[in-house]
Amino acid sequence: MSASPKTPAAPPDEVLSTLNPDGTRRWLNPRLSPGRWLNRRRAVGYALIALFALVPMFRIGGKPLMLLDLLKREFTFFGKTFFATDTLLLMLFLLGTFALVFFLTAVLGRVWCGWGCPQTVYLELVFRPIERLVLGAGSQRRSQASALKLALLYAAYFVVAFLMAHIFLAYFVPFETLWGWLSQPPTEHLTSFIVVVAVTALILADFVFFREQMCTLACPYGRLQSVLLDKRSLVVGYDVFRGEPRGKAKPSADSGTLGDCVDCKACVATCPTGIDIRKGLQMECVACTQCIDACDGIMERLGREPGLIRYMTPAALGATTVAADARAAGDTACRPAAPKTGFRLRPLIYGTLVVAAFATLGIVSARKGGVEVAAVRDKLTPFQLMDGDLVSNSLHLRIRNRAETEETFDVTIPSIADVRIASPDLPMAIPSGQSRTANLVVITPRAIFSGGFHATSLVVTGSSGTSKTIEYRLQGPEDGAASTVPVSR
Ligand code: SF4
Ligand code: SF4
Repeated sequence: MSASPKTPAAPPDEVLSTLNPDGTRRWLNPRLSPGRWLNRRRAVGYALIALFALVPMFRIGGKPLMLLDLLKREFTFFGKTFFATDTLLLMLFLLGTFALVFFLTAVLGRVWCGWGCPQTVYLELVFRPIERLVLGAGSQRRSQASALKLALLYAAYFVVAFLMAHIFLAYFVPFETLWGWLSQPPTEHLTSFIVVVAVTALILADFVFFREQMCTLACPYGRLQSVLLDKRSLVVGYDVFRGEPRGKAKPSADSGTLGDCVDCKACVATCPTGIDIRKGLQMECVACTQCIDACDGIMERLGREPGLIRYMTPAALGATTVAADARAAGDTACRPAAPKTGFRLRPLIYGTLVVAAFATLGIVSARKGGVEVAAVRDKLTPFQLMDGDLVSNSLHLRIRNRAETEETFDVTIPSIADVRIASPDLPMAIPSGQSRTANLVVITPRAIFSGGFHATSLVVTGSSGTSKTIEYRLQGPEDGAASTVPVSR
């Protein structure tokens, strides 16, 4: 018995939305679709752009709202400075931030991509509007523009990118310092100037040439969507049940058999990633809502209800597809199933993680107090026997002032009677956020040592009353009671 040969089904004749069939880049020139969602996105987007520009200028208690000082390895958020040694705090912050992104994605879908990501915000609200302004709406193809218009366009791009690069640098260099640099020749601060030039070049490469490829090919967050969304996350979707079968409106003959989609392709023409939302949920969709506005405009012109494309959930999207298939198969009474409501495990887990991470961060940073201390024993002369049955220990204390103002620090050892602390460095004034090292010699009676050491506590106290106690083992002779000729070890 021989099986009849089967011809494998031909693959769909499709390529990526940003590629031509021959593999070359398909340049997208999305048509702007005015509408209520575009108005909302503009309000949010321009507010974010203003925030990005203003944050480096704001101060809280004399400190920047946000400053990532890589040279000093100090990171200031909302006026509170963290140091490179704050690894636990940094880990908690990163954990909380990632969990927050996961939580928002599980609940609101790709809201970050469409509404908050700098890639979308600057491309759609700054660079493309400039392009439309210079080249004119409807003739946006750069390859077809005159040399003069192109020169104007690239000059405008450069000015915006150069400005953005300076604002970017203001997150790493204090704003006042950067402002001072602007009035000096670049050779006086060459490294920073090179950084600005490099960032400007990257911005231009991204927003002028790479564009939507960042979202569809490069961004790892876009790739994660399929695992971060659940069936009740918000997505932009096409109502298959209402829209299909699609076709040009012919009220007299077909109004009873056709769906609401008139196949005008306005939703495709407006899409910044070049996809057709009617094909279902796609990784390339950045939830920019432009197809909603485009389709709502068409529906309004046709006198139909808006919302053929709208925010919905993957579950609702699946229900409209199932019902449309059933109807096409002859079940005319079939309707999309009502969406489920109630408990959702995924947002609960992510939400709990967010609260736990940020609450722990708050508790740990509050307990760190205003001073950080680390003690290091002197390597050359850990201890010396002295006349009068005394023992001296040499050590170095690294003190970091975490307080918001300058403090003067001193050291005591209250648990040992007859102790003397000799130091040319104490008391020591330390500016806010900085650290200094104090060299000190602790002189104690020999009798306190047993087994070669004496465990005690060093108390470092600041002028404002802040203090830190650390455990320390003073070294001494094995037998503290015996008296010997002074020696050094
Ligand atoms: S804009 Fe609306 S009516 Fe036009 S093709 Fe898209 S879904 Fe159909
Ligand atoms: S499919 Fe719609 S929401 Fe998604 S990227 Fe395209 S226009 Fe934006």
